[in-house]
Amino acid sequence: MIVADMLNAEKHGKNNFKRVVIVGGGFAGLNAAKVLAGQSVSVTLIDRKNFHTFQPLLYQVATAVLSPGQIAQPLRRILYKAPNVKVIMGEIVGFDLKRKVAICNNGVGIPYDYLIVAAGARHAYFGHDKWEFDAPGLKTIEDALEIRRRILLAFELAEREACLTGKHQPLHFAVIGGGPTGVELAGAIANIAKRSLSKDFKCIDFNECRITLYEGATRILGIYPERISHKAQKQLSELGVEVQTNSFVMDIEPGRIKIKNKWIPANVSLWASGIEASRIGRKLDAKTEGSGRVFVEPDLSLPGHPEVFVVGDMSLIKNAEGQTIPALGAPAMQEGRSAARNILRDTRNQKRINFLYKDRGSMATIGRHRAVAEIGKWYFSGYFAWFIWALVHIFMLMGFRHRVAVFYEWIWTYFTRERSARLITGNIDELAIQLTGKAISENNRNAKSPAKKEN
Ligand SMILES: Cc1cc2nc3c(=O)[nH]c(=O)nc-3n(C[C@H](O)[C@H](O)[C@H](O)COP(=O)(O)OP(=O)(O)OC[C@H]3O[C@@H](n4cnc5c(N)ncnc54)[C@H](O)[C@@H]3O)c2cc1C
Repeated sequence: MIVADMLNAEKHGKNNFKRVVIVGGGFAGLNAAKVLAGQSVSVTLIDRKNFHTFQPLLYQVATAVLSPGQIAQPLRRILYKAPNVKVIMGEIVGFDLKRKVAICNNGVGIPYDYLIVAAGARHAYFGHDKWEFDAPGLKTIEDALEIRRRILLAFELAEREACLTGKHQPLHFAVIGGGPTGVELAGAIANIAKRSLSKDFKCIDFNECRITLYEGATRILGIYPERISHKAQKQLSELGVEVQTNSFVMDIEPGRIKIKNKWIPANVSLWASGIEASRIGRKLDAKTEGSGRVFVEPDLSLPGHPEVFVVGDMSLIKNAEGQTIPALGAPAMQEGRSAARNILRDTRNQKRINFLYKDRGSMATIGRHRAVAEIGKWYFSGYFAWFIWALVHIFMLMGFRHRVAVFYEWIWTYFTRERSARLITGNIDELAIQLTGKAISENNRNAKSPAKKEN
């Protein structure tokens, strides 16, 4: 293994700055880099993407409200003002903890004095990885675009069938998993189906369009208090989403899903259930729990390696009450900042401070002016909760331009119900086969053209 030399302090002068390597430019890694920006350390942030994704709004890309560029920003641009922070696009594939080296996918080792591992998580299929092809999950911009293609193509195929034959097979969108992502997706699809697209698609019978949210547990939004779950379920029903609890998915195939031993046709199946921590965590020789989250010390360091921190969705830490801190944006940001501050304390010979999670509440949106929120002792639902949700998300977005762009798009969508990002790109035939088992040219092959109908 070649060990890179370019990260040594020479570029910043012979200053003997400590070298900090951050793996991942998500909420946790980026917040760590921001704390270290301008400080007396030499930082290298490495991510396999050259941009940061604001994941809480991915579902809006998947449902054609926003374009990818509105929720993603180049990491270089975010950090361009910090002379001591370099950004490298690459994937870390392992670590040599003894030699203090992170190994990049080009075989080069990147030496560090401190390492912050913040590689996040992906959706988990509980041992059924082949389901991913038929029921994609939502974690990256690529996932969101794939879901958008599937949703829009399902409408296009139904419209074509209806225009050419006079009727179409009922449309069914199945969302699997009743956590915040599943609830947001189901609500947004209902908004599109029942409201936004109904004027543009002139032949589809939107009464023949079903959206079902399947949840294996007894209630949706299980991480929230019970009353929030009930409110959310009520709001979903008002939007026309059927919520089926105690419904475990047993199998998934193109065009259908199996629930409680019964196959149900589904034009589009989407996966919003369970997460698995980045597998890079297993390369740290540390104790992990079932979903691969790494157990860390109270200061977020790896047991036996005070120079290594694991933060964000990858780490497992409990709060003062002994409850596991959820894999969410706010804890990830706080953990990233806390790890970075402890590194700065070390460089100043100060005592480290244990991580303390400040829970400022949780919320989920359920479509146009519907949401649920829990802030401290208070909980809200409906219009007010949606307003708070919108405000918080606008302020959490990275960069003024993105905030303005998203705000403008929301205002436009709110008043016009128009979906501006509605392009279907890529190989449509491949996608049609995926959704229906047939290429687009074979779909409705027996359909009579309007001219034939008249004859
Ligand atoms: C659809 C969706 C909706 C969500 N909604 C909310 C919400 O409303 N509120 C909320 O609080 N939380 C929400 N979350 C959760 C929140 O986004 C995550 O908890 C948060 O992003 C975790 O931050 P992280 O830095 O640990 O990981 P991530 O943000 O996932 O970042 C990980 C980064 O590491 C990079 N990476 C991964 N592996 C490697 C590697 N081997 N080498 C180099 N780079 C690598 C990735 O490219 C990525 O940039 C949502 C998540 C999703 C998927």
